[in-house]
Amino acid sequence: MARINKNYDKLAAGYLFPEIARRTNAFLDQNPSAKVLRLGIGDTTEPIVPAVLDGLHAGVDALGAADSYSGYGPSEGITPLRHGLAGHYRELGLSLDPSEFFVSDGAKSDSANIQGIFSDDCVVAVQDPAYPVYVDSNVISGRTGEASDSGYEGLIYMPCTEENGFFPDIPDRKVDLIYICSPNNPTGAVATKEQLKTFVDYANEHKAIIFYDSAYASFITDPDLPRSIYEVPGAETCSIEFNSFSKTAGFTGVRLAWTIVPKACRTEDTEAGKLHALWTRRQNTFFNGAANIVQAGGVAALSPEGRQQTDAQVSFYLENAHIINDGLKSLGITTYGGGNAPYVWLKTPGGLSSWDFFDKLLNECHVVGTPGSGFGPAGEGFFRLSAFGHRENVEMAVSSIKEKLQI
Ligand SMILES: *Cc1c(COP(=O)(O)O)cnc(C)c1O
Repeated sequence: MARINKNYDKLAAGYLFPEIARRTNAFLDQNPSAKVLRLGIGDTTEPIVPAVLDGLHAGVDALGAADSYSGYGPSEGITPLRHGLAGHYRELGLSLDPSEFFVSDGAKSDSANIQGIFSDDCVVAVQDPAYPVYVDSNVISGRTGEASDSGYEGLIYMPCTEENGFFPDIPDRKVDLIYICSPNNPTGAVATKEQLKTFVDYANEHKAIIFYDSAYASFITDPDLPRSIYEVPGAETCSIEFNSFSKTAGFTGVRLAWTIVPKACRTEDTEAGKLHALWTRRQNTFFNGAANIVQAGGVAALSPEGRQQTDAQVSFYLENAHIINDGLKSLGITTYGGGNAPYVWLKTPGGLSSWDFFDKLLNECHVVGTPGSGFGPAGEGFFRLSAFGHRENVEMAVSSIKEKLQI
């Protein structure tokens, strides 16, 4: 008799984006001629840059000739890409070995799958608000109890608030697995080296592991802010880092990412090398590697030309964030983020709930954003606007907010 994994029934979320779509469609049914401007979803909109397209084309062409054809590759990724990634970190002054890089088809899947190499009874701490994958993957694996308004039972929420600059204090008890995202989705906040050091020291002291999601690292403009957790001394023994070509190179549909598991990384019951070996085993068992065509595109994205062109695209999105921030500030709305991240995190005016502000923005301005409460309890009273969009769309949305929002 087959039985299902009942943990799926505990999932409260999965509710956020379908609910946004439901309310947006209901509005469009009532107002068929309205043009809705979407600043809701964190998805790239601009075409892939020429140098990267050339790499993708070359990847396709290689498959058409017997002497360059390739079938299954190493599940950890092709050698030129792992070397290219190690070279990229070398520019940050970091010496990670190419064998510590695991190429994959997404930081979402890796950040969801990583918990599978850890014990079921690990205590999990997450930033609140957070990218929903961290919480949901642990709910599905049975590391939490039921959900309530204050979150899942058994999960340690680390509130990110105005008071702490949207970076949490270290847990006041022993936790085992800690998720940190910087630059943060949804708040746009970037952790300083000093802030990260508090967590690295905590993790080394308690033999905990930090999962560091740096999917937006390329959006950091401030030279003092760390692009990788390994810029913090001691991080190699306690941190696993995720990053992706999705937001940097417009690969959200193409799919290519990487995870770093340093050989020095260890748990309280293992020595250095074991986590690296486990992730290797996990990937070799469940995954057959990212597409060879796509990896050729990734190598091109890391070339000097590729970097220059993708950097320009990242700057374009950051300029969008600047336009959104300026518009909101001119209305007296308090905003955070946007300077080193493609997300603007605004405090809802008049103390509205996140969903009430969603309805107000949609009805008055025809703009769709994302309610902060959808990312965790501490997101209540906040709202995320995404800077991914065509310039004229972003400008129209900001004009509409400036002209029509009644506050
Ligand atoms: C977009 C995003 C990613 C990227 O995921 P992919 O699966 O590589 O597209 C990872 N983490 C966060 C927080 C994101 O917002």
